[in-house]
Amino acid sequence: MEESQKKDALGRKLAALDKKGWFPPELLALVEAVCRLQEETRASLTVSVDPAQVRGDLEHRQGAPLLPREAFPVDVQGAEKLFLSLLDVTESLPQLRTPSQLVRDRLVRGEIEPAALFRAYAAEDEAPFAAWEALAPDAPKLLPFLVYNAMEPWLEATGAALLAQRPQLDVWPYGHCPVCGSPAFIGHLSAPEPSRNEGRDINKGGKRLHVCSYCRADFRAKRLQCPFCLEEDQKKLDYFTVDSETGYQVHVCRTCKSYIKIADFRELFGRTFMPALDDLESLALDMAAQKEGFHRLAPSEWGL
Ligand SMILES: [Zn+2]
Ligand SMILES: [Zn+2]
Repeated sequence: MEESQKKDALGRKLAALDKKGWFPPELLALVEAVCRLQEETRASLTVSVDPAQVRGDLEHRQGAPLLPREAFPVDVQGAEKLFLSLLDVTESLPQLRTPSQLVRDRLVRGEIEPAALFRAYAAEDEAPFAAWEALAPDAPKLLPFLVYNAMEPWLEATGAALLAQRPQLDVWPYGHCPVCGSPAFIGHLSAPEPSRNEGRDINKGGKRLHVCSYCRADFRAKRLQCPFCLEEDQKKLDYFTVDSETGYQVHVCRTCKSYIKIADFRELFGRTFMPALDDLESLALDMAAQKEGFHRLAPSEWGL
């Protein structure tokens, strides 16, 4: 997508969120600011991946991700700058002011350090985030939110660069992202491609693509398989929709009790899939799925 198209799509998404009427204006202001800051960062960004760290074909076909999370090249200075800009935004919002000031105090006193937080997030080291939760029970997700969104432009760019180097043409049959090994957080059904005859899958109505919660790579998944525990027994798999949320489905697995939301905009002209924003827009489906006892593996980044 071109940058200008992306901007239009962002504007339309924000309008759609606003129209729902139940997202607090503060949250929408935050979403917009985060998207714009990340967009600015992305515009001036280059990543280079050390080829020696990228896994070979054989290992990859057996399920090994191309690059471990910790090896993603994040420019620490750039990400730190973005971290501080994001913190300015959260600090300006009344609901997040107090916990944001607490983050700032801890930074100033040297009790937390962005570079160390980035490393911990990449390595899935829960310790600094658990410490934060204990300190700020009212905003337990604020710190991981700031950390992830500060790293996101580099993670996404690296994911895209790796996918360009090693296109994933086949269905990926494993329960994690082929690029970095993290779980998917949302998915969508791709628009039909009538001009290219790739077989029955397309005629049936689109490929199922999942989006990684860490590097944002999208990759093809089996239509009928739990993306986490790999259950394929159709009696254990099910999906449902919520009347007020056209364009979204929840796919559940009764074996591992997990779910994933799938956007299907094939019949809805003018709707563009923007994973992080669609995740927010379809919040009603999370509530419905969780009420039924299902859980999601990759938590929503907006769960502030
Ligand atoms: Zn990934
Ligand atoms: Zn499952």
